[in-house]
Amino acid sequence: MRLIKRAPREQKKGRKVAVIGAGPAGLYAAGWLASEGYTVELIDMLPEPGGLLACGIPDLRMEKVNLREAVGELRGLGVAFRLGTKVGENVELEELIEGHDATLIATGAWQSRKLNVDGEGLAGVYSALEYLVDYTLARHSHDGEPPALSGGIVLVVGGGLSAVDACYVAREAGAAQVVWYYRRGEEQAPAREAEPEAFRLLTEQVDFHPLTQPVSFIGAGGKLTAVKAVRMRLGSKDASGRPRPIPIEGSEFERRIDYALVAAGEIATAPPGAVECGIEVADETALRTKGVVITNEVTIPVESSESGGPLQYVSIPRERAVRAKGSTSPRAAIKVDGRYRTTRRGVFAAGNVIDGPTQAGFAIVEGVMAAVAIKDYLETDQWPAEPYGGVYEWQELLFG
Ligand SMILES: Cc1cc2nc3c(=O)[nH]c(=O)nc-3n(C[C@H](O)[C@H](O)[C@H](O)COP(=O)(O)OP(=O)(O)OC[C@H]3O[C@@H](n4cnc5c(N)ncnc54)[C@H](O)[C@@H]3O)c2cc1C
Repeated sequence: MRLIKRAPREQKKGRKVAVIGAGPAGLYAAGWLASEGYTVELIDMLPEPGGLLACGIPDLRMEKVNLREAVGELRGLGVAFRLGTKVGENVELEELIEGHDATLIATGAWQSRKLNVDGEGLAGVYSALEYLVDYTLARHSHDGEPPALSGGIVLVVGGGLSAVDACYVAREAGAAQVVWYYRRGEEQAPAREAEPEAFRLLTEQVDFHPLTQPVSFIGAGGKLTAVKAVRMRLGSKDASGRPRPIPIEGSEFERRIDYALVAAGEIATAPPGAVECGIEVADETALRTKGVVITNEVTIPVESSESGGPLQYVSIPRERAVRAKGSTSPRAAIKVDGRYRTTRRGVFAAGNVIDGPTQAGFAIVEGVMAAVAIKDYLETDQWPAEPYGGVYEWQELLFG
């Protein structure tokens, strides 16, 4: 993984960009902008850069050596990292916006959805994402060791990549047994779509139950002891385009468990104070103003070697890239237009904070596209009132 497209051609001293969030979107944007000669400051609440790639995806599934080397390259290029700094807590968003010529918000999707069932507050029931982050940070010698799962029966709930990684980590953390419930059918699991063979192998290694959903957690003395669950059947398609899971009456059952890792999905997390700064955040039903459609390329040259030739490509399945047009904004996502502009002048947003949870490739592409738009803004000082929209060709955005 390389984050820098080339050595800077010229220093544009005095033009400062704040990038909030050092995940793939923020890192790639920072690399692109630093290559253009801008002074870039990257701010992140975690003690190490890389976002979910570094701290959410467990080391056993993704090595972090390349990522660390890439971050080293950014430092070499002069990108300043302000880590362990939560925007909205340790520094105000308004202060960052005022102190920089442009700001990119790339804070991802860190709020875990709840199942909203009884007993979710019992000791032993965790958000899978929080558990994964604490677990990985502890392995990287940072504070915050999560509770040991050793010897216990661990229930994982969900069908996405967080659920998959929760299964891996539960096994690595010494669980005696991993039980996995997913409320839809195996064919509908987002993690299966992302990595079919790995998904199949994992379902064979744990006690996997598709079409099964917890209805409550049961405890004794405040501590989790069992789950009550119900079997599901599939009905007609819901808003997500997948068959709707419907509880089968009378199919409830109880099972003894010691821990539960709930991966029911994540919600986009704008930094606290965003709305007060004039940055609009969507409710669940808002239609995107964003209209970016990548029409002509499915592999994207993110950086070049020193000689200027392409070095590495990010692949995006074409149909996924095109899907962005006219879709519904996920809840709490920052609203942007076709050039990643928020509703506040000089502030842009990219990655999971505008899309909700997706995959790293999309965040990377958006980070770079937002960086191109930031350069455009800094060079022209133009901020038209009408949102940009429509169809943009990747070539046009990157090289036009
Ligand atoms: C468990 C798990 C497994 C995954 N596996 C895969 C996979 O195999 N393949 C794949 O392509 N994708 C995978 N993904 C998805 C992928 O990691 C994300 O799509 C991608 O990381 C999103 O990039 P981002 O830059 O938008 O946000 P993030 O990577 O989430 O980075 C956002 C950054 O912003 C920081 N931040 C948030 N709020 C603040 C604040 N207020 N102040 C300061 N900093 C803040 C966070 O600390 C974080 O570093 C997985 C996700 C999860 C949760």
